[in-house]
Amino acid sequence: MDLQEQLEGLQREAESAIAGAENSTALEAVRIRLLGRKEGRLTEIMRGLGQLPAELRPQAGAAANQVKERLAALLDARADVLDSGAPATPREDLSLPGRIRWRGARHPVTLVVDEICSVLAGLGFTRARGPEAETDWYNFTSLNTPLDHPAADMHDTFYLAPGVLLRSHTSPVQMRVMQQYQPPVRVVAPGTVYRRDPFDASHAPAFEQLEGLAVDEGISFVDLKATLAEFARRLFGSATRVRFRPSFFPFTEPSAEVDVSCMICGGRGCSACKQTGWMEISGAGMVHPSVFANAGYDPERYTGFAFGMGPARIAMTLYGIPDIRLLYENDTRFLEQFVDA
Ligand SMILES: [Zn+2]
Repeated sequence: MDLQEQLEGLQREAESAIAGAENSTALEAVRIRLLGRKEGRLTEIMRGLGQLPAELRPQAGAAANQVKERLAALLDARADVLDSGAPATPREDLSLPGRIRWRGARHPVTLVVDEICSVLAGLGFTRARGPEAETDWYNFTSLNTPLDHPAADMHDTFYLAPGVLLRSHTSPVQMRVMQQYQPPVRVVAPGTVYRRDPFDASHAPAFEQLEGLAVDEGISFVDLKATLAEFARRLFGSATRVRFRPSFFPFTEPSAEVDVSCMICGGRGCSACKQTGWMEISGAGMVHPSVFANAGYDPERYTGFAFGMGPARIAMTLYGIPDIRLLYENDTRFLEQFVDA
């Protein structure tokens, strides 16, 4: 390496060492390392001058002196800065107001879905899911609902193409699970469903539904009642009472509407339960034998029950949400209330 390169390398190294010295002790150590009379780096380089041909020495000596002066000036300047007490490097301005961080949270409907699924997991139900675009066979026909059946009108469906539609309920997942697995089956299937409902305070054209299905040999209506009663007690509290009212669904027989004692007033009557003391939470029933036949199960051998719920409606009740549209507007002023809920 020739002398010029050595000097340039030393100068670069020295500049960053001087700038990085955080106090006068560190700066003095840098000074000794660079310019010390015995072992300073520049001193060593200048000793090498003696080996150069005589005609090159004056020029090299001048270059070395220039570097020496430059380093001495830098060391003095740095010493002044350190003496003045100014911070060695610019620091954060702690007087600036802090930034409020946006904290994400789970949507209130998702919170309810997770809670329901967690309670049902304790009763042996596994999560299942199916497609949101379905064929009319899965959505209606296989579930004992012929397309000219009045129940098909009830749903007033979004068709994507002939025979293909946005599912109007989560019940098609029952059929898909039964086609794939042999009994015993216990599944819970949450998901979005679509109906041509107006978008008003209590209706939305797309909303969450949740389907439960249990199939095995020897399952009776007693199992249905006991399961849903235990489910309600675990979800809403141990004092919750349950009642069943006769109802109709094409894919269950017999069918029932399931009410629980109002979780707001405890059954005494309030505005949330319209003074009745009861809240409807589920439609349920024993799976119709023809549904089993469509799934390839032997209806003589297997029985089972199914139930459906609307997590959005349950969320509205639990959190006192007056208008279902609030759940879909993605207004963070509304949603942030459920952080840590
Ligand atoms: Zn009430």
